[in-house]
Amino acid sequence: MTTLLNYAADTWTEATGDLTDVRSAITGEVVARLGSKGIDFKAMLDHARNVGGPALRAMTFHARARMIKALATAIMARKDELYALSWATGATQGDSWIDIEGGAGTLFTTASKGRRELPDDVILIDGAHEPIGKRGTFIGQHVYTSLHGAAIHINAFNFPVWGMLEKLGPTLLAGVPAIIKPAGSTGYVAEAAFRIMIEAGVLPAGAIQLLLEPTADMFDHLGCQDVVSFTGSAATAIKLQSHPVIQRESVRFVAERDSLNASILGPDATPDSPEFDLFVKEVAREMTVKAGQKCTAIRRAFVPAKLLNAVQAALIVRLSKVVVGNPQVEGVSMGALVSQQQRDDVREKARLVSRQAALVFGDIDHVALTGAKAADGAFMSPLLFRTDDPWGSDLVHDVEAFGPVSTLMPYRDLDDAIALANRGKGSLALSVFTYDPQVARDFVLGAAAFHGRIVFIDRDSAKESTGHGSPLPMLIHGGPGRAGGGEEMGGVRGVKHYMQRSALQGNPRLLSGVVSQWLPGSPQSEGDVHPFRQRFGELAIGYTLNTASRTVTLEDIEHFAEFTGDTFYAHMDEEAAAANPFFPGRVAHGYLLLSFAAGLFVDPAPGPVLANYGLEGLRFVRPVSPGEAIKVSLTVKSKAQRNDEYGEVRWAVAITDAADELCATYDLLTMNAM
Ligand code: NDP
Repeated sequence: MTTLLNYAADTWTEATGDLTDVRSAITGEVVARLGSKGIDFKAMLDHARNVGGPALRAMTFHARARMIKALATAIMARKDELYALSWATGATQGDSWIDIEGGAGTLFTTASKGRRELPDDVILIDGAHEPIGKRGTFIGQHVYTSLHGAAIHINAFNFPVWGMLEKLGPTLLAGVPAIIKPAGSTGYVAEAAFRIMIEAGVLPAGAIQLLLEPTADMFDHLGCQDVVSFTGSAATAIKLQSHPVIQRESVRFVAERDSLNASILGPDATPDSPEFDLFVKEVAREMTVKAGQKCTAIRRAFVPAKLLNAVQAALIVRLSKVVVGNPQVEGVSMGALVSQQQRDDVREKARLVSRQAALVFGDIDHVALTGAKAADGAFMSPLLFRTDDPWGSDLVHDVEAFGPVSTLMPYRDLDDAIALANRGKGSLALSVFTYDPQVARDFVLGAAAFHGRIVFIDRDSAKESTGHGSPLPMLIHGGPGRAGGGEEMGGVRGVKHYMQRSALQGNPRLLSGVVSQWLPGSPQSEGDVHPFRQRFGELAIGYTLNTASRTVTLEDIEHFAEFTGDTFYAHMDEEAAAANPFFPGRVAHGYLLLSFAAGLFVDPAPGPVLANYGLEGLRFVRPVSPGEAIKVSLTVKSKAQRNDEYGEVRWAVAITDAADELCATYDLLTMNAM
């Protein structure tokens, strides 16, 4: 039995007062003791703001991403220690895999997206610049910068590692320090994962701190630069969100709370269609994975009325095979709930549901166990309810029994199915088992506004599908209404929750200097050295090559057409081209202009430019007729170092005619040696 320590101001700190016993969900033994009495929360906040924040903000997104990857690597290297602790939470090996390796995987993805999608800088540009003044001397540009406060992460008990890491990755990538408050009942697993991250030695001082229990004054010291990210019950979320300091200081509050997620067997399904079997398998799986203690679990399963009996029979066959007991014993497929208190809460909620729905599988109070004693642990049977009157049974749509509990219901038609899915008043996840794209579209139009994520599962995707209940780091996790109204993850979107978006206005030269990117209207410097002869480190933002002109002849156009096979009438048929409202007559191929542009700006000898790897934002603005001359300006727009050997250079390219009118514009991307 371990006494857990808080980690405050970079020091492992014991609580001074009474400690809370945390018991094994399997044996009932005390496995850890924890408390936070005597911990100075204000000092933790000050440390985060004054030490952790400045250190993280001094690192670029890429440096933070490398640090996050190192944290994930450290967790993976010591995952066995976490598995050894996790079984006492009631988790099976599979449940622990979701929590531990799923958590590390989430960090890996966050790190990788940070390196690929964010600049090697501390400012994040949001969208293109906005031209404001007619002469181009005054423009607008949105940017994100890191908040100067702390992120307070209040986590749920069900995934102590994943739940901590899915919030921590985006927070650290944003350059914001975190104070993590894990749920008490699984705090020993969270503490162990936290300790591994500290011992990895890659975090700057003050970047993360651990508070094992809430302190009474926790919200009193928060300010406008802090963010609270909460996962747990609606009751706690509402209490915390209504705190006067949260209201007065407009403290950002990201909430992810109760959710009565639905799954629908589409109206196109029959007992013989693959979607029927996939649906039955998924409902049973969602009921039993993590003993149903998943915020995304299927609580409400809807099927076409004519299939209700068939689905019920198939579900009962599957649920009958579930073996409940000690997850360390071979053959056990469902472990325990996290605590007897939680189990009692689920039983109470199940009794509420039973007022309006019939129990068709399981027993609220008893379960046959393998390798465990009912009196010791927090075990319960999977419970399948059924009601034939979903509109007359409010409780099944309103009461979240956070355990292996689900209710099967019929729907009349597609509109009824959509309305019933939305009756959950906002959820995290909706799954629809259909093979019909029109059904899928109708669901999106009718139900997407009520659900944070919709997953369609059919015969073609089933093997690769990540299933109904798995939030992914690249997709948003959160939902409207009852689900809390928050959003987490979603790749770079999740990072922005910890940053402030500001609109900048000013002269392009000034704003270019701010964002380390050349903006139209800012100075373009020219020199004697061709930009392709300069190494990555030598290229200055704004450095420009203005090329000589080249006349595009009719012979060029015909040669290009025959050579490539692109004999489209706009280039080859004068009469047909002239009849087209966009062209004065035959015009040069856009691809010919791009090729001539390259011919004008390229310096051919071997040098630091290693590869051209694409164009972005290509627009042909004005057609070029035979006999017209074009020229090119090539400007270094931005740079991002990729590794010690090379970096990406983004070039702003403008192809203009003799009157300096723009014919085509695009960004060219090259890899340049350091
Ligand atoms: P709670 O809302 O009780 O707890 C969630 C987190 O909030 C825990 O870390 C808890 O700490 C903390 N907390 C509680 N009170 C305060 C406070 N006054 N100040 C600061 N922090 C506080 O939810 P549980 O984890 O106990 O789960 C209960 C129910 O929540 C479930 O039955 C389920 O309905 C729902 N739930 C929903 C989830 C979702 O993602 N949608 C996930 C998990 C649960 P401590 O543990 O120390 O009390």
